[in-house]
Amino acid sequence: MSGGRAALDRFRLLAAALVVAIHTSPLAGVSEAADFWLTRVLARIAVPFFMMVSGYFLARRDWAGTGKFLRKTLALYAAAVVLYLPVNFYNGGFSAAGWLRRLLVDGTLYHLWYFPAVLLGVLIARQLARLGMPAALAAAGALYLAGLGGDSWYGVFTRAPALRLLYDGFFSVCPYTRNGLFYAPLFLLLGAAGIRLGRRAALVGTALSLGVMSAEAFWLRALGAQRHDSMYLALPVLMICLFSLLLEENTGEKRKFRAISMLIYLLHPMLIILVRGGAKALGLERLLIADSLIHYAAVLAGSVLCACVLYRLRLLRPRKDARAWRELDCGALRHNAAVLQAALPEGCALMGVVKADAYGHGAAQAARALQGAGVRAFAVACVAEGIALRRVGVRGEILVLGYTPASETPLLRRWKLSQTVADAAHGRALAAAGGPVRIHLGIDTGMHRLGIPAGDYAAISEIYSYKNLRVCGVFSHLCVVDSLAAADVAYTGEQLARFYETVGWLREHGYPTGKVHIQASYGVLNLPGQACGYARVGIALYGVRSSNGPVRSQLDLRPALAVRARITSVRLVAAGDCAGYDRAFRAERPTRVAAVSIGYADGLPRELPKRGGKVLVRGQECALIGRLCMDQALIDVTEVPEAAAGDVVTLIGCDGGAVLRAEDLAAQCGTITNEILSRLGQRLPVVERR
Ligand SMILES: *Cc1c(COP(=O)(O)O)cnc(C)c1O
Repeated sequence: MSGGRAALDRFRLLAAALVVAIHTSPLAGVSEAADFWLTRVLARIAVPFFMMVSGYFLARRDWAGTGKFLRKTLALYAAAVVLYLPVNFYNGGFSAAGWLRRLLVDGTLYHLWYFPAVLLGVLIARQLARLGMPAALAAAGALYLAGLGGDSWYGVFTRAPALRLLYDGFFSVCPYTRNGLFYAPLFLLLGAAGIRLGRRAALVGTALSLGVMSAEAFWLRALGAQRHDSMYLALPVLMICLFSLLLEENTGEKRKFRAISMLIYLLHPMLIILVRGGAKALGLERLLIADSLIHYAAVLAGSVLCACVLYRLRLLRPRKDARAWRELDCGALRHNAAVLQAALPEGCALMGVVKADAYGHGAAQAARALQGAGVRAFAVACVAEGIALRRVGVRGEILVLGYTPASETPLLRRWKLSQTVADAAHGRALAAAGGPVRIHLGIDTGMHRLGIPAGDYAAISEIYSYKNLRVCGVFSHLCVVDSLAAADVAYTGEQLARFYETVGWLREHGYPTGKVHIQASYGVLNLPGQACGYARVGIALYGVRSSNGPVRSQLDLRPALAVRARITSVRLVAAGDCAGYDRAFRAERPTRVAAVSIGYADGLPRELPKRGGKVLVRGQECALIGRLCMDQALIDVTEVPEAAAGDVVTLIGCDGGAVLRAEDLAAQCGTITNEILSRLGQRLPVVERR
């Protein structure tokens, strides 16, 4: 996890120590000026630094992790609010209105203002970032300047009576401008900008701007202008230089330091109470409180100790790539969506088919990646799959392709899902269930699975007669469009003719059709140019084909999935000896056999070793041998002498220059790629590659 110098993560610890200093005044016993400089000038870099790292990491992922960041921050804030409730009570508590204001703006204890500030700040910063960085920084800078007048420059700004009125009006509602509106957005965006000045310039800039800020602070203090002391004119410049310097030095990461610095920050007020209380109880006031430096050291040491203990007790989650996993290449998915969308005629939108856990790719991850690529319509097999998508934030149209009992229509409404009408009786039942339902009318044009028969106009008009059923689409499904054999092509032609005839009849009779759609993947590949509203694309979206058979149009699609596991143990099996259940493998030569942490319960076909199944180890092909077990497999690594426990084993996908195609694996096992992929087990965590 580490590797290299984790300058940013190390600096978090220093910043946390500075925050503790703000609240303990370590130099108070030395001199008032020294204490002022340390806690009201130097330590004022700590919070902007924390905000800049947040902005930096959020922007590096194009703000895609904002939701997760906000949820995590909210959870931390909630934990801190609860932790400090006893202190609030001890201090006398607040009125209900005061409590609410503190919860939303100031934080419920003095140091907790950071949380509401960063929450609001991130929302504003992300919104501003859409304007482009220069405009966003200008806007956030203007907000900061406005805030400055309510902070350390208050006395200067409010020489103008109009401004005094304005600020004092503001302060009657909110006690500080150092908050999520005036203060946080600028530092979040400066972090997001990731400005790099080069090492020398950054170093000189840091020293100079710290000097300037110190002068500014002492001057304002002498003027008596400071209402508060968190914001200085030179502070953003200092932060740009300092952050740039840290970026130059930053070549690694230390996640542990992130957690520990946050814990120090959260816990130190508790430690102040404990150290003071403990000192009084033990009669050690002289030692622990009277000397401000020792007091600071005691609080800091206690905070670090508690943070380390809590860190060791944290919930440990298994690494996703510890045993066996699915690796989803989100870039490939986005690429495929763009290629497919470009292949569709004007006005026809891609509907991403993400049923069966997105053909084994991980529905949540795949749908979110597709949404990021502009896909606004999805199809699933059942209501539960549709709900799962909504729960992870998928918007737009979600069509349930399979049958849904009429008793579940409240779920369709609650989650804004569209339902396929499977036949006339299904339509009747949906209409009778009470309450409106969005439907896509299925038309059976020759597959004879679902849909009202094409040309059954009585049944079709009946559907339109129900006020509860809102027809948002009319569609059919082709059953041999993957074949280029003449008879199959003719059958597809008949299906198309029946479909468009029915659509024509609807239009003639003034029935709204909503979006019309008939192509799935092979429809797009073999029948391009259909004037439809949607193309429901599944397998092609994942960059693979159902089989190795020929297709009309060659699109540049890239496989989005790799399946990998690890070697767990390697041993030598003597010639004539055997391995695995049923003694199915018999060594003809001394054979190095490796056990691999994946089995048929993870979705691999049990007959794969028998059918010539291969894996990749260190970029080389190795044979699967013996019987596939439920959770493990055996492979022959005789030709890869370096193979060792812990090595990654690729079952589908690329490793070095070598590749194992899902299509080939399916062909070996006498099935189609769709079956192999959709059967991949939920036990395989999805690792996203962005
Ligand atoms: C599964 C399915 C699709 C997607 O098929 P692909 O061949 O994977 O593109 C489209 N429409 C319906 C009705 C389906 O059931």
